[in-house]
Order: sequence, then C-alpha cells, then structure tokens
Amino acid sequence: MRINQDIVLVDGAEFDSNVYLINNEIMVDCGSGVFFEETLEQMEHYGLKLGKIKKVIFTHCHFDHVGAAPLWKKKIKAKFFIHENDREALEKGIVGAEFFGESFEGFKVDGVVKEGDIIRTGSYSFQVLHTPGHSPGSIVLWEPEKGILVSGDTLFVDGWGRSDLPGGSKEKLMESLRRIKNLGDIQILLPGHGVPASKHNIYARDAIKKILEKIE
Ligand SMILES: [Zn+2]
Repeated sequence: MRINQDIVLVDGAEFDSNVYLINNEIMVDCGSGVFFEETLEQMEHYGLKLGKIKKVIFTHCHFDHVGAAPLWKKKIKAKFFIHENDREALEKGIVGAEFFGESFEGFKVDGVVKEGDIIRTGSYSFQVLHTPGHSPGSIVLWEPEKGILVSGDTLFVDGWGRSDLPGGSKEKLMESLRRIKNLGDIQILLPGHGVPASKHNIYARDAIKKILEKIE
C-alpha cells in the first residue's frame, strides 16, 4: 500500500511484520524471511529500488520483524540498526523464532539507535523514541512536523502490543503508550502489523482517536 508519495507499506503476509520504505532509503523492519519472495515482489510492484536502501531500522528484536535480516544483508548494502536493549537478543538469535516454528542463528547489526536520535531522509526527520514494554529495546519513530508515527508492536490501530513475552513489561508498555498519547497530533499511524491509519480518512481518524482514548 502506498501511504503517500514517499512512504510504501509492504504488507506482512501471515504472521510477518509490516515493512515500511521511507523515500526508498530507510527500511523499517524487514519481515521474518519466511515470505521473503512476497516482500520482494511487492517492492518491485511499487517500483522500489533495492540498491537505494541505505538503512534498515528494527523497531524491536522479534523474529517476525528481523528474521529476514540475513537474507537482506546478502542482497543490499544498507546498514542495520536496533536499540541497544534489544541488540544482544538479536545478535544471539534469542528472537522467538520457535514461536513461529522457525529457527534463527542471530544477526550482527552495524550500530544502535537510541532515544533522541534523528533519522533524516528527504523532507522527513524522524525522532527515535525508546518505548520499552513489548520488548526492552522497542522503539517508535515520530515525525512531529508531519505527524507520522511508525509504532512497531507498541501500538496498533485497534490495540497495543503484548507485554508477556520475554523481556516484556506491562508497566513499561503503559508508560510508553502514555508517552505516545502525549506526543501531539498523530496524522498517520504506521503499526508493525495490520492496517495503517491516516486522518485523511474519516474511519481511520475515528480509529486513531479511539485507540488513544483507551490509553490511561
Ligand atoms: Zn513483536
């Protein structure tokens, strides 16, 4: 799905995470790898050029978001980043692959992202916000000028992420969600699974309002 002229959502097949391409330069999450061919097909469909991808940023370390990393590493020259608190899990392969009936050897990133980092591409400046709870190193990307939130598994259009997985914390998740609620006007919500929502659409506008109201 094309979100706007610069952002493409490559829908996650089955349990796969959504993959977002911003300006064809920044890839947020990369899927599990189980549906790698589908991901590539969709990217081709949207005219995306693999050679233009500069950075891959993981919202957190779970298999459905990072499993394809070794496949991507072979295919593109991009650098890979994750928050420090999820780095060890990713590098040691403790990413929950077994929940999906798969295995994962581990993946070495090129660097870490941290609270306050700015990820720039074209006219976009995304702030990295550390939002633990779903996992210790979960992040969201917030573009305050444009009101775009890439929310990983912290916030979905119809709910929020689980906090009962290893390293999860209900308390921290609720704290992170309260922080998100106070960010300002979210115009476009781009979650790690399921449909995105844009306030251009009256139904989606309602959905964003409702989910934010549920956060106490
Ligand atoms: Zn997750």
